Amino acid sequence: MGIIKHYFMPNEYVQSIFQIDIEKLANSGVKGIITDLDNTLVGWDEADPTQAVKEWFNKVREAGITITIVSNNNEQRVGSFSKSLNVDYIFKAKKPRGRAFNQASKLMKLKPTEIVVIGDQMLTDVFGGNRRGLFTIMVVPVKKTDGFITKFNRMIERRLLQRFRKKGYITWEEN
Ligand SMILES: [Mg+2]
Repeated sequence: MGIIKHYFMPNEYVQSIFQIDIEKLANSGVKGIITDLDNTLVGWDEADPTQAVKEWFNKVREAGITITIVSNNNEQRVGSFSKSLNVDYIFKAKKPRGRAFNQASKLMKLKPTEIVVIGDQMLTDVFGGNRRGLFTIMVVPVKKTDGFITKFNRMIERRLLQRFRKKGYITWEEN
C-alpha cells in the first residue's frame, strides 16, 4: 500500500455525519468519536449546533459512544459550541499533529481501536487520525467556502482525491 494512501485515504467517506451508521459503529466495538467542528458538524461560520446536530449527539450517546470535539479553531469558538452540547472539547488542536488525538483518547479512557475520527479535511482530520492508527471517516464539508489556510489545504486535497480516483482507490459515490 502506498504511503500517501496510507496517510491520506479515509477509511470511509460519507455525505454528512447523518449518513454515518451509528449502530454499526457501536456493534463493531466503537466507544468514542473524535470529531472536527468547522464544516463537519456545522458550517465554519455558524455559531451554534443545529437541532439536527443536537439530535445526532443524543443518538450517538444513546448508542453508548462518547464524543470529544477536537478543533484547530480558538477557545471561544470551540468552547461556546461544545458547551451548548455538553461535550468535552480540545481547541487549537494543531491537527494533523498527534497530541490532541492522544489527549482526547486519554480523556475518554479508550484504546485506539475503540475510536473513530470524523472530519471534513484530508490534510488535518484524516491525516491526523490515520497517523495515529485511528479509523477515519471523512465527510463532505457542510459549506463550500473556507477560511484562508483551509483554501490552500483544499487545493492539495483535490490533487490527492484525483490521484486516488485514478488509482481506483475511491469506491464511494461522488456528486
Ligand atoms: Mg473542518
